[in-house]
This record gives sequence, C-alpha cells and structure tokens, in this order.
Amino acid sequence: MHSSSLVDRIDAVLPQTQCTKCGYDGCRPYAQAIAQDGEAINRCPPGGSDGIQALASLLNLPVLSLDEECGRHGPLLAAVIDEAHCIGCTLCIQACPVDAIVGANKLMHTVIADRCTGCDLCVAPCPVDCIAMVPAQASWTPERADAARIHHRQRQRRLDRLHSESSALAARTLANKAPVAAQAGSDPASRQQAIAQALARARARRQQQ
Ligand code: SF4
Ligand code: SF4
Ligand code: SF4
Repeated sequence: MHSSSLVDRIDAVLPQTQCTKCGYDGCRPYAQAIAQDGEAINRCPPGGSDGIQALASLLNLPVLSLDEECGRHGPLLAAVIDEAHCIGCTLCIQACPVDAIVGANKLMHTVIADRCTGCDLCVAPCPVDCIAMVPAQASWTPERADAARIHHRQRQRRLDRLHSESSALAARTLANKAPVAAQAGSDPASRQQAIAQALARARARRQQQ
C-alpha cells in the first residue's frame, strides 16, 4: 500500500477534533506517525475504543486499550464563552484549530457551536478564565469530522501563508538594512545617502503595491 494513501485512510478513521491529545499537532500528523513510524494506535482519547478498533481493523493490528496517559474518552463537550467577562484578547481564536471562535481585538468573542470540536485548546490560554467546556448539544458525526478536517486545513494554509509573508517581509527588511548598515561606519553624508536610497526603495515598493 502506498504510504500517502495509507496516511489518508488512517486520517479518515480519526475523529478530526484536532485536540493534540495524541501528542501530535492534529489528526493528520498522528496518522502520518502511525503509517510511517509505527506509532501506537491507542493514543486518541476522542476516538476511544471504537476508534482503536477501526484502526486495528484497517491496519490488521491487535486491538489495544486506550493509553490513558493521553486522556480519557468521554462525552462530546463544547466550549462556551462567558461574554460578560471576555476582554477580547483574541488568544482563544489563535488557539482554536478549526476557527470555531469569532471576535476581534477588544471585542467579546463567541463560539460557533456546530464548528466546535470540543478539543478544549482554547481554555488554558484565556487570561480571565471565561471559557467553560459544557456537554455538547449535538453528537459528533462523520459529516462534522469531515468539516473539521477542512476547517483545520484552511487554517493551516492561512498560517503557512502568513508565515511565508512575514518571512519575506523580514528578508526584505534585512536586505534594505544591509546597505545602510554597510554605511554605518562611514561619513555622515554617505549614511544620509544610504538612508535616502532605502526610503526611496520603500516608497517605490508601496507605489507598486
Ligand atoms: S482527535 Fe485528537 S487525539 Fe485523536 S488523532 Fe486527532 S488530534 Fe490526535
Ligand atoms: S472553540 Fe475551543 S473547544 Fe471548540 S474547537 Fe475551538 S479551541 Fe476547541
Ligand atoms: S481568551 Fe478569553 S478573554 Fe481572550 S478573547 Fe478569548 S474568551 Fe475573551
């Protein structure tokens, strides 16, 4: 079996809460570790014994009991924000792996209930402890798992794009500073000239944009 298709098939069995309780940065990295490094199949608390059974059947491996060092299997939970106490710091938005929280800087935040995977990754970062995990109103279905996979991938792509944009910005800043730095030890007129040239380059770039 080709290794990437095996990763897809394992990923398809995993619950997609993206909770990281398996010790990996989401369901797909855990699927990769199982497929490529022989990682144990009993590290996913949200999947519980049914999930382990499904992995064991898929991979023709013996069924194991859940490794409770990763956490316990329990009913699906959902995050709710006590909006009266939210200070709008956005830390929960940054922590949410599936973009299930809406809000903006200094504005109250809200959880989109049917997007929430119950992963609880937003709880610890909240500086005013105003996020609670409560029993979910609806059960976790294969459709919700598929949606969570898509939302997580969209978020990953956005973060990758932001990362490459900021890396490019940092590289441009360094490139701009290099001629100025090279002039730093020379006479004041040369330094002024180097700074004027750097500013002209920045203005030209802004005009192009
Ligand atoms: S649901 Fe959580 S524990 Fe299970 S594979 Fe996905 S990230 Fe890992
Ligand atoms: S709102 Fe909180 S519990 Fe729900 S998916 Fe996002 S981080 Fe996880
Ligand atoms: S982390 Fe807490 S205080 Fe900050 S925006 Fe989220 S809910 Fe509000």
